[in-house]
Amino acid sequence: MKTHKIAILGYPIKHTLSPKMHNYWLKELNINGKYEAINTPIQNLKKTTKKLYKLEYKGLNLTIPLKEEILKYLNKKDETVNTTGAANVVIFSKQGHLTGKNTDIYGFKKSLENLIKNKERRLATIIGSGGAARAVLHVLIQMKYKKIILYNRTIRNAETIKKNFLKNLSNRLKIKIICRSLKKNKNNIKQTDLLINTTPMGMKDFPNLNIDIKNLKANSVVFDLIYNPLETKLIKEAKKRGIINTNGLDMLMYQAQRSFYYWFNRTPKITNKLKKILEKEIK
Ligand code: NAP
Repeated sequence: MKTHKIAILGYPIKHTLSPKMHNYWLKELNINGKYEAINTPIQNLKKTTKKLYKLEYKGLNLTIPLKEEILKYLNKKDETVNTTGAANVVIFSKQGHLTGKNTDIYGFKKSLENLIKNKERRLATIIGSGGAARAVLHVLIQMKYKKIILYNRTIRNAETIKKNFLKNLSNRLKIKIICRSLKKNKNNIKQTDLLINTTPMGMKDFPNLNIDIKNLKANSVVFDLIYNPLETKLIKEAKKRGIINTNGLDMLMYQAQRSFYYWFNRTPKITNKLKKILEKEIK
């Protein structure tokens, strides 16, 4: 019987949770398959991708720093890739075509939906302006936030995102996007309906995000894309103040669920049991 093979490529790749999730689902769904992590420095991406295609892999996941680099080798990109300028999923076709998708958009949307149900959508604040921030901005525009502030270390990168998004928006007059330097006064954070960290600040081995949320309004929502540790300083502070919050673990599971669907045409279940397995792995 044929074994269906998938790999996640990245550098470094040691700490990825993706093999745990996908191998769990393969087993649950009785699919004869194997999902593995392959350490891939950026200069090896082309060679490794070619090799895995020849070995009849079904597809790939890409993580840091390859989500943008893979675009050079794609034959087909959908709207999610064009919007974010990044692909975290590749599907190999029998003809040797590489189709790219970005499932971070789906992952973020699914994990945000319940948190903001019935909440005001006047102002959202995004910290960071990289690939993940693009996915987040795309979803917030879809969800009709009226004003969005992008705080970034390099303000030029925030302005580039703003320019690209506004260019493609049909109803650009209805939305206001503002770019600010992360070093500047973050006074308007106190009025925000939603605060999202898309930088690696707060992640294991990184310094904490330098943001004070003590004035954040009580009915705001805090979303930290980081899931290792499960509780960053930002999440701890939100919890202390009774503010609705989430880490990035649900987003991670949803983006994986969507990736799995693209390779196998099946939607695996996200369960508490799986979440507990991943949380244990992180702790
Ligand atoms: P990226 O494209 O490299 O962007 C990183 C962003 O963080 C940029 O805005 C960068 O600012 C900022 N940044 C980096 N180091 C910083 C520092 N020392 N101080 C202040 N800002 C800093 O990365 P990404 O793909 O967007 O990923 C960002 C984070 O999201 C990572 O931690 C990743 O693990 C997480 N993520 C989670 C999920 C999930 O499923 N939960 C999915 C995707 C990403 P500059 O523009 O100034 O460089």
